[in-house]
Amino acid sequence: MNKAESERLSARFEALGYKPAESVGTADLIVLNSCVVRQSAEERVVNKLHDLRRLIREKPGVMLALTGCLVDSDVARLQKKFPHVHHFFKAGDPPPWLEKTEELLLPPRPSPSVYLTISQGCDNFCSYCIVPYRRGREKSRPFAEIVCEAQALARRGAKEIVLLGQNVDSFGHDLAGKPDLADLLTELNGIEGLARLRFLTNHPKDMSHKLIKAIAGLEKVCEQINLPVQAGSDGILGAMRRGYTVDQYRRLVADIRREIPAVAISTDIIVGFPGETAEQFRETVDLLSALKFATVHVAVYSPRPGTVAARELADDVPSGVKKARLGEIERLQENIQAADNARLVGYTEEVLVEGSKGGKWYGRTRTGKLVFFSRDRDRLGQLVDVKIEKASAWSLQGIVNTTGNNQEEK
Ligand code: SAM
Ligand code: SF4
Repeated sequence: MNKAESERLSARFEALGYKPAESVGTADLIVLNSCVVRQSAEERVVNKLHDLRRLIREKPGVMLALTGCLVDSDVARLQKKFPHVHHFFKAGDPPPWLEKTEELLLPPRPSPSVYLTISQGCDNFCSYCIVPYRRGREKSRPFAEIVCEAQALARRGAKEIVLLGQNVDSFGHDLAGKPDLADLLTELNGIEGLARLRFLTNHPKDMSHKLIKAIAGLEKVCEQINLPVQAGSDGILGAMRRGYTVDQYRRLVADIRREIPAVAISTDIIVGFPGETAEQFRETVDLLSALKFATVHVAVYSPRPGTVAARELADDVPSGVKKARLGEIERLQENIQAADNARLVGYTEEVLVEGSKGGKWYGRTRTGKLVFFSRDRDRLGQLVDVKIEKASAWSLQGIVNTTGNNQEEK
């Protein structure tokens, strides 16, 4: 979400004549887009703000602005804490020193894969999460506006659109006629020039069978689903106020895999939630071993100000235990991914080329796997068949398959 909002801000500034600076030291305008979802993220932003104090003192003409979730309603407190910051504005708001111009719909340098926000905020209030407090209640963008923006993005050369929302499954519940994500995907699937659609994040308590059917049936919708489980223990899920049990989650995954056999499901895990026992953590490990996710984003719990967990539950899992649990999940997942990727060697995958790095093109498969292959001619934004020759836990390497032959069954 932050990345999408940063792209949008860059577009605004570039439309006004700004150009991207080579480095912070040569910039006339610095906008820090902050994330405070975890304490470590917040500390990074605060350290960065302190680092910038000297630069602002030495170069008085430089303007510094802070946006993102660090900006709460108490701007006076922030101004006192960071007096060298010239402007504060909330996540998703326009920069306050610019005149309220027409919202810019397009990034100036269209890239093959672009983000499109379909809803803001969240109504779920998971006990650990600061998002509803900093980004407000859930609000869907109007259906027609999203379709219009997607059409414009495709006309400008976007090949893939990634729809964003904290809970994409409840998209539309607040709109007239209550269209849902399946309806939106069906509409976007018809846009000419667009090759792929993705979306995140799904909430296990809200993901409908209608949506699963739509993903299975719409050819542009990629076989990739981000479905955060957060923990493998019912006790912890209850304390997190997630609204589902482990068994319900397992059945949902089984349902998805039955309808979409090629699907890659990724998940998020928090370790060291208040009261998490060794047995409860074991249940999480067992769930990950059994379900074998394509990717796991694992984080150590940190209390966030204002949340129910921070107010009511002691952060009682020692830091060393949290780190050990994080490490165990990371090692387990690395093995799962290495095996999952190794099985692709010898097969051909369709890759959307997103850029080049170190003399190679890179892009992603429909399931979201990162693929590198030799840079021959210009292929940016193209769908290329790549024969996979090597695999690691994190990426795949291959060569362009010119034979068009991928007979073998995966
Ligand atoms: N809406 C999504 C969901 O329901 O899972 C995810 C949104 S949250 C902004 C992104 C991830 O940050 C979460 O999945 C969770 O794993 C992690 N997270 C949120 N609050 C956290 C906290 N207090 N400590 C550690 N990780 C946290
Ligand atoms: Fe946070 Fe996601 Fe829960 Fe919303 S659904 S409160 S964004 S973790």
